Amino acid sequence: MTKSMSCPSCGAPLDIKNRFVKMVTCDFCSQVMLLKDTGLDPTGRIAKLAELPSPLYLDATGTLSGQQFQVMGRLRYQYDEGMWDEWFLTIEGDKPGWLVEDEGEYTFYHKETLTSAIPPFEKVKVGSVIPIGNRQVFITQKGEANIVGGEGQLAFTILPGEEVRYLDGNSGQEQISVEYTTDEIEFLVGRSVARSDLVVDEEEW
Ligand SMILES: [Zn+2]
Repeated sequence: MTKSMSCPSCGAPLDIKNRFVKMVTCDFCSQVMLLKDTGLDPTGRIAKLAELPSPLYLDATGTLSGQQFQVMGRLRYQYDEGMWDEWFLTIEGDKPGWLVEDEGEYTFYHKETLTSAIPPFEKVKVGSVIPIGNRQVFITQKGEANIVGGEGQLAFTILPGEEVRYLDGNSGQEQISVEYTTDEIEFLVGRSVARSDLVVDEEEW
């Protein structure tokens, strides 16, 4: 299902790609907009991205561990030690998810609904085990990052310039990520993906 709209900032056509989309960046003028019932609401923020080497790109298709995917959008996070990208993918026959690309390492996450409270960011210590839902999560990292840019269409509203505090950890074989944003806490459960399990189709010119 796509829905045709146009950019309120520059008038370029914008096709909303699926029902999960809540935020759109115009491919032409880089204006970031929120998708509301009443239409596209410009935020006044501009999302420009410097290219980092990656096999992925906006609208890319391919397979992830054998499942067909399409890239809908991405966000770039910057922290003390560098940057990482989160690619928002739709997957055939599955919920959309986030493929995190950090210096050539890949982790694929699905968002899960929190069924219990998560301790406040300040209280969590690296090296401790915290309960999240029915999981015991070993915390391996905590930090702060800034959203420095984005492109395409995303399923939640996190704007360029926003700060995110995050926890990384694991629970058995599962990779766990918690992102505390201004409005909400995102709880993500994922798995490591070998580079060989990510096959990206050739870009069409
Ligand atoms: Zn535009």
